[in-house]
Amino acid sequence: MKILVISDIHANLAALKTVIKAAGEVDAVWCLGDVVGYGPNPNECVELIRKQSNLICLLGNHDAACIGKMSVETFNHEARLAVDWTRSVLTLENREFLLDRPETVVHNEVTLAHGSPREPVYEYLLDVQSASENFAYFSNDYCFIGHSHLPLMFASTNGQEGTRLVFPPPSTTIELKPRAILNPGSVGQPRDRDPRASFAIYDDVEHTWEHKRVEYDVLETQLAMRNAGLPERHIERLTSGW
Ligand code: ZN
Repeated sequence: MKILVISDIHANLAALKTVIKAAGEVDAVWCLGDVVGYGPNPNECVELIRKQSNLICLLGNHDAACIGKMSVETFNHEARLAVDWTRSVLTLENREFLLDRPETVVHNEVTLAHGSPREPVYEYLLDVQSASENFAYFSNDYCFIGHSHLPLMFASTNGQEGTRLVFPPPSTTIELKPRAILNPGSVGQPRDRDPRASFAIYDDVEHTWEHKRVEYDVLETQLAMRNAGLPERHIERLTSGW
């Protein structure tokens, strides 16, 4: 099965549409959370995600905040403004879809979580130390995560002592070996200084992972954000992906 793995769409419809088109025909879509927050099209993004066949879609921290499932205390001022705006426009039906999202899913050899298997909605896996601790919190071969918006892989072929951090270059296919934690990067708000939308294609027969980047119409999203009155800093960062 060819699976499109995406995360952190953040209500960026132009980016999401471009990624779905660029992925081509896939057998399933796995979305690791944060469909909304920051961007100008929360309803359209939830609706497009809901239409995908063989969909798994998890709860992210921004999703949780936008449906009132968690407090916005940990969010900075501008992120709170985006949460408040999203709450004010989200339809009842889309809110209910987000309310039903699971925090983790185990699918054969893969565990899925937004942040980490240890703290599914909130923990950022950015360093080898916290990643190596997290291998104890899932028992199958692979764990797919999002949340940091950074496309990366933590590989632990020699047990917990040997965890390595790898940044898979775009357009290369990695043959996966158990065990590994993988992040497809962010569709709607990349943070690795590459403004292109980030995603991955996972083949669960060949056990390969292809990290891909695609240019989308950044200006279209920025214009819609300006029209919605969303914070200027979130608009600016899309230009260069920080
Ligand atoms: Zn996010």
